Amino acid sequence: MSLNGKVCLITGAASGIGYGIATRFIADGGRVVIADLKLDVAQEAADTLSKQGPGTAMAVAMDVSDEDQVNAGVAAVVEKWGTVDVLVSNAGIQIVHPVEDFPFAQWKKLLAIHLDGAFLTSKACLPHMYKQGSGSIIFMGSVHSKEASKLKSAYVTAKHGLLGFARVLSKEGAAHGVRANVICPGFVKTPLVEKQIPEQARTLGISEQEVIETVMLGETVDKEFTTIEDVAAVAHLFADFPTNALTGQSLVVSHGWYMN
Ligand code: NAD
Repeated sequence: MSLNGKVCLITGAASGIGYGIATRFIADGGRVVIADLKLDVAQEAADTLSKQGPGTAMAVAMDVSDEDQVNAGVAAVVEKWGTVDVLVSNAGIQIVHPVEDFPFAQWKKLLAIHLDGAFLTSKACLPHMYKQGSGSIIFMGSVHSKEASKLKSAYVTAKHGLLGFARVLSKEGAAHGVRANVICPGFVKTPLVEKQIPEQARTLGISEQEVIETVMLGETVDKEFTTIEDVAAVAHLFADFPTNALTGQSLVVSHGWYMN
């Protein structure tokens, strides 16, 4: 159990990909923090995962775009478990509009959750990682960190931005044993994507099946969705890599939707 006893803070971990990563880390003995918007929902997830073991979970309420909430959440983790070894900055939303119709408030909200969230959670965890001389920070990018799709200007901009931020962190963190990397998944069937399919169909004037076949799976090599387990396996690799060599990287896991 390579993550045995490691404190792994995962944002947006009450649902979808974050929950899947938490499941994998708990199975490997990690002490996992379920950080999400609502405490009761996060607590329910933490209770379920703790029963699965062998690791254990705690819950914190945290809007990742709110500095006070992020700092309070990380302080609660450090008070209980002493440090943070792994940060998975995963919380995210999707909003689709063509640029000319994109409400500015929604643009700012999306960028705040993805980019301010990455910055604030990293900033709060770094002192603890620097103090112990080790840490792994993992950002949830997307194939949209590398490639664009219509209607997703805010999301594509945010996901590209994470690459730059991770590269800076990998340079600043190197002297302190802290690594920073980005996972870039293809389309994964989670609430985020299920909500997006009808919205894209309506805006593009095509059927939901066409959205799935052309936008989401058209460029894959085998017409398969990426799974939560695929993404969790990459998160585990980044979390537990045995040396400091693996840093400043982005790894696409998308059935070939994007190849670099
Ligand atoms: P999801 O909707 O299932 O889960 C997102 C979680 O983030 C939810 O639990 C939600 O409550 C939480 N969240 C939202 N705003 C938050 C905030 N301000 N503070 C804290 N938590 C917040 O979505 P998902 O598909 O699991 O997405 C997780 C991440 O993976 C996102 O960053 C998303 O962009 C990325 N991603 C998803 C896909 C996909 O196809 N599903 C592909 C590539 C990348």
